[in-house]
Amino acid sequence: MSEQTPASGHLVNGPADPEHDPKASYALEPDYVANLTRRVVSTTGATVPVESPLNGQPLAHIPQSSAQDVAEAYARARRAQVTWARTSLADRAAMLLRLHDLVLDRQEEIIDLIVLESGKSRKHAFDEPMHIALTARYYGRTAHEHLDPQRKLGVVPGLTRVEVNRLPKGVVGIISPWNYPFTMALCDGLPALLAGNAVVTKPDAQTMLSALLGAQLLEEAGFPEGVWNVVAGPGAEIGTPMIERSDYVCFTGSTATGKLIASQCADRLIGASLELGGKNPILILRDANLEKAAEGAVRASFSNAGQLCVSVERMFIADQIYDRFVQRFVARTEAMTLGSSMEWGVDMGSLISQTQLETVQAHVDDAVAKGARVLTGGRARPDLGPYFFEPTILEGVTPDMTCFGDETFGPVIALYRFHDEADAVARANAGDYGLNASIYTSDGARGRVIAKEIKCGTVNINEAFGATFASIDSPMGGMRQSGMGRRQGSEGIHRYTESQSVATQRLVRFAPMLGMSDETYAKVMTAQLRLMKKLGRA
Ligand code: NAD
Repeated sequence: MSEQTPASGHLVNGPADPEHDPKASYALEPDYVANLTRRVVSTTGATVPVESPLNGQPLAHIPQSSAQDVAEAYARARRAQVTWARTSLADRAAMLLRLHDLVLDRQEEIIDLIVLESGKSRKHAFDEPMHIALTARYYGRTAHEHLDPQRKLGVVPGLTRVEVNRLPKGVVGIISPWNYPFTMALCDGLPALLAGNAVVTKPDAQTMLSALLGAQLLEEAGFPEGVWNVVAGPGAEIGTPMIERSDYVCFTGSTATGKLIASQCADRLIGASLELGGKNPILILRDANLEKAAEGAVRASFSNAGQLCVSVERMFIADQIYDRFVQRFVARTEAMTLGSSMEWGVDMGSLISQTQLETVQAHVDDAVAKGARVLTGGRARPDLGPYFFEPTILEGVTPDMTCFGDETFGPVIALYRFHDEADAVARANAGDYGLNASIYTSDGARGRVIAKEIKCGTVNINEAFGATFASIDSPMGGMRQSGMGRRQGSEGIHRYTESQSVATQRLVRFAPMLGMSDETYAKVMTAQLRLMKKLGRA
């Protein structure tokens, strides 16, 4: 296990007795923490302590928001939104591009905080500022393409001028999970802001500091006071007060919570996008390059210790290559380094909590008790940190085992053999989820044909998940129980807008003119309809 050492100037170099008790003092400077936590809208005086999953070291006391605080956050957001919506699109886009630069300049600080709060390895934490930089650049550069008024066909050529405006919804409520605490807290909010909305966000209680650093960076990038507001507290308590005041809700988290949120939004007839869980498949076809597939399979299965909505938990491998592939995959998995470290060089870090550890252990124990074989891993590693679990490969998983169809959300992958590809696709499509899939094949064109048969919102060919997730121009989200709506691309910003059609009519009207009877008007219009079709008009 690597020694924990500070990687930026914001970390205190050691508790009173650091060698024996990491819990003896705070991991972060009190002033640094206070500058973050003051951003929570809270008047309760109540706080909740958070500790690092790396070693239990205390990090902060997070102020808690009451329902009244939530109301105040929405009142601030509503006031700020009026002026914000009148700020020019060019100015709003410029702030996103400034955020891009800030996030890259401050990435060491951001990564330190993510690692401390989540226990993930530094290389997995790096994905977060990278994803925010990509998102900020993409929306900053494509603002006009998505939001400028669009000319449309008018019903009477030349005489009906139609344009569609994209008006902001108003105040967007964003509820986000802990697994990617910086990017999940920010990525969905950036297009909401660009479209002229204000945001009230409730990050997960375990990872508030990373989200609050995001709020600070938005302020530094020039976003005015009140357009981005952070509340803190249990979702079950402050989720409903948020939904009651939102004009739109963006939720990322479990399918069970997503359903609760969808029904509350339905009651208010407001829109919601839901980015939910998955039980993602990966297909290793018989013509796959075995080394590349094994390398990709490790990242697909064990990135962020499997606590990733798009990570794979079911692997279908062609019979012809099964043994040769599995031998490579197991060898690469066994070569992974595990560690509780702030430094680069660790392949996989900790799970975030005791709850996560218990779920992962329970899934593995259940599978083993019912006859599954552990090819590697399968054990908790308390010697590395309180919530470590080894990357685990299972064979012989059957439908009576919990991990066959339930999301583990941990570093556990089940291997299945297939004989023909149609059967592999059918098994990949089994179950209720439909978030992400991967296909490894040396024939990209055939991979794309197979992709269309897979009921998942994203499919990566010859890559784990990063190819779709980082291609911000294309939509990302789930089919079936994995969600509703999409983040990224034009869908990811248009969800935060109301489309408004404005038609300006000249010379002719939609009623009989020049003393025409209703019957003559109907005949003239019928002739006009026939003519338009002949002319090829849509
Ligand atoms: P969760 O649903 O328990 O919590 C997610 C968020 O919802 C947290 O902020 C939580 O405080 C809040 N919340 C909980 N109950 C609430 C309620 N009744 N009303 C309003 N808010 C409430 O999810 P989790 O288990 O912490 O996160 C892991 C899950 O998230 C996994 O299933 C994972 O697949 C999913 N996830 C999906 C994506 C995606 O993009 N599809 C990304 C990350 C995580």
